[in-house]
Amino acid sequence: MQLLSVASEVYPLIKTGGLADVAGALPLALASHGVAVTTLLPGYRSVLAKLDRPLVAAKFDDLLGTKARLLRAELGGRDLLVLEAPALFDRDGGPYADAAGLDWPDNWRRFAALSRAAADIAGGAISGYQPDLVHAHDWQAAMALVYLRHAARRVPGVLTIHNLAFQGQFPAGIFRSLGLPDDAFDVDLLEYYGNVGFLKGGLQAADAITTVSPSYAQEIRTPEFGMGLEGVINARADRLHGIVNGIDTDDWDPARDPHLARTYSAGSLPRRRENRAVLARRFGIDPGAGPLFCVISRLTGQKGMDVLVAVIDDLVAMGGSLAVLGSGEPALEAAFRAAAVRHPTRVGIVTAYDEPLSHQLQGGSDAILVPSRFEPCGLTQLCGLRYGCLPIVARTGGLADTIIDANEAALAAGVATGFQFGRLDADTLRQTIARACAVYARPEQWRAMQRQAMRADVSWTHSAARYAALFAHLIGRSG
Ligand code: ADP
Repeated sequence: MQLLSVASEVYPLIKTGGLADVAGALPLALASHGVAVTTLLPGYRSVLAKLDRPLVAAKFDDLLGTKARLLRAELGGRDLLVLEAPALFDRDGGPYADAAGLDWPDNWRRFAALSRAAADIAGGAISGYQPDLVHAHDWQAAMALVYLRHAARRVPGVLTIHNLAFQGQFPAGIFRSLGLPDDAFDVDLLEYYGNVGFLKGGLQAADAITTVSPSYAQEIRTPEFGMGLEGVINARADRLHGIVNGIDTDDWDPARDPHLARTYSAGSLPRRRENRAVLARRFGIDPGAGPLFCVISRLTGQKGMDVLVAVIDDLVAMGGSLAVLGSGEPALEAAFRAAAVRHPTRVGIVTAYDEPLSHQLQGGSDAILVPSRFEPCGLTQLCGLRYGCLPIVARTGGLADTIIDANEAALAAGVATGFQFGRLDADTLRQTIARACAVYARPEQWRAMQRQAMRADVSWTHSAARYAALFAHLIGRSG
């Protein structure tokens, strides 16, 4: 089976979050299920610089008003098609926003063009290549399914929602430039409260909708998590599947991780101590006898960082210390910096995007804090399990599905892998941190939890099989 996957970020070429991890790792995992994936992504300046001798696979004279080429390349076992469209993607800054953090004003055209290219590829734009199915990730690729609907040659389309908070809504005035027939601007497709909704259109046009955990698949059907799209999603609930993400267990392997001062496994946990010491020096802190907590995250309200900020003094008073890696809302960055000034030996922050340091935090800290308000899947808690860095998580979305709380029964049965709390507020988070500190004070029990966490299957094995079965079903094959 030939699958065209379409995403706006793909690890290791370009990454701002979990979407890139999934779009980079799932194709590799699908290969053993007989699914050959080709991944289409935008030719951002930094992406083009990383391609090794790409070949021109197709040319467009007028792709939504601009000239473009499709470049074929290979990277780490991934077949790539990169949309080179200098007017749209050859610029400084991030994939979605300029260096100052402002969304590119032509994002609608940039990602409609990506989507249009995907539909054209499905329609035969590349000689000798014919995908059986298109898999679109998030709003940036969702329009591919809308274009497919109006294409001469239709193949089935799957939309995966990585985060419903990002919907790609634009003023109605752009509709004329999308190159779609008038009837596409309809409440049954693109029209969304008078605007054009890219994700909404994809939800309506998809043959199947997936999201990245079973709990989130349920949550997005409610007003609390549906972000206004719960009606559309409920109407298509028979097409909705929750498939939990995995992580690339080769990239994330404490026994072979080149970023760690000391590699280790479940049988050699004391070796983590050296990583902890290196980490403490890097963050300029002196953790002492209590647990060293870490955060690897966008610093935003979604991630519950405002609540964490409110309990840092208590965390320190309980004997803990905190190392934060992340950037985001300026007020939150400032609040973490202020905490580091108040507790110079116990709290440190690095406001950068630093892949090696994220591995070092997983391999050296005792616990990772993920107090999200909502979390479609979450990947850092999965990495935490694999590295024996015990996750402390809110009971929401994928966090609820992947972590077993250390309540008394779970501790007694030896199945606990982390700490969960039900309500995100300062009191509950404080109590949960206190629970973690209490277990940490019993080193045997803590180590038993670490070993149990490291036994959890966080690979793509099961989930890739589920995607493969869904794809096979959609293209009318059994199995
Ligand atoms: P989201 O996609 O909502 O940001 P996820 O948990 O799904 O959250 O994925 C986040 C990914 O980005 C993880 O792979 C995590 O390790 C990584 N990450 C987040 N912030 C940083 C950072 N500052 N430096 C390095 N990696 C980071």
